[in-house]
Amino acid sequence: MDYQAVLEEVAAHARPFVRQGRVADYIPALERVSADRFGIAVADIHGDVYGVGDWEIPFSVQSISKAFSLALVMAQSHDGHDNIWQRVGREPSGTPFNSLVQLEAENGIPRNPFINAGALVVTDRLQTLTGDASTSMLHFLREESGNPDLAFDQAVADSEAEHGDRNAALAHFMASFGNLENPVPSVIEHYFWQCSIEMSCRDLAVAGGFLARHGLRADGSRLLEAREAKRINAVMLTCGTYDAAGEFAYRVGLPAKSGVGGGIIAVIPGRCTLCVWSPGLDARGNSVAGAAALDHFTTLTGWSVF
Ligand code: GLU
Repeated sequence: MDYQAVLEEVAAHARPFVRQGRVADYIPALERVSADRFGIAVADIHGDVYGVGDWEIPFSVQSISKAFSLALVMAQSHDGHDNIWQRVGREPSGTPFNSLVQLEAENGIPRNPFINAGALVVTDRLQTLTGDASTSMLHFLREESGNPDLAFDQAVADSEAEHGDRNAALAHFMASFGNLENPVPSVIEHYFWQCSIEMSCRDLAVAGGFLARHGLRADGSRLLEAREAKRINAVMLTCGTYDAAGEFAYRVGLPAKSGVGGGIIAVIPGRCTLCVWSPGLDARGNSVAGAAALDHFTTLTGWSVF
């Protein structure tokens, strides 16, 4: 496969979509980013990386961090001994990522780990397991991406904290059901920090390599059991792209996780991990040009999981 040629064709296809979406503004610091950006990278399972456009420019990972925090909790605890799935479900929510509505009927158990409520539970667990959830995440991402310069973006974390009433409400509500182990202010603070980490398409495609390698790191050591990598990929496919996961599976056909910074990572198990970035979002919060690019990638290569 000539990845470079495919990426160039994909980028040309996606370009007209770049200005079609809206840059997220509910976290004011995210608005600084130019809507014109577009980058895409592929890291194959052997460690070769290819990219086009703005693929080396760091952006705010936001909810893409949720796939990595889940992986880190599973890696730290190993499923079965310490089962995160007793505290968070694995069903698509069909409601917006920051919705409160299902929590009351479901006794404070979020539908899945990729809506905000579920991600807060995962961060809470990581805090208990490591004593410092956001720093553990940063170190984990530095290690998996091979980029020691990854950092938090303090302005984004502060901006989110200032406008974080909804996430605080979700956390307090779950705490009232006994579904948080740590104090609410500490859980939301670590969650905001983890979302503020800045990474490029290159960094994210390389860091997500273990999901394409059935749980193995680039050096061949095992991060996750193959069944655990399978589970994360499955939840990404069914829940990773907000309440548009059905539409995304229909168009792209890959496990994926998007974030309101405009990034999307996608996994082709046994082959490669992709990351695409373009900040303009559709009404559900997914990058418009990013989804168009991934749609075109799987159409050109025939490499959806279907
Ligand atoms: N930090 C953002 C929030 O909690 C993440 C949103 C997202 O990327 O989906 O609102």
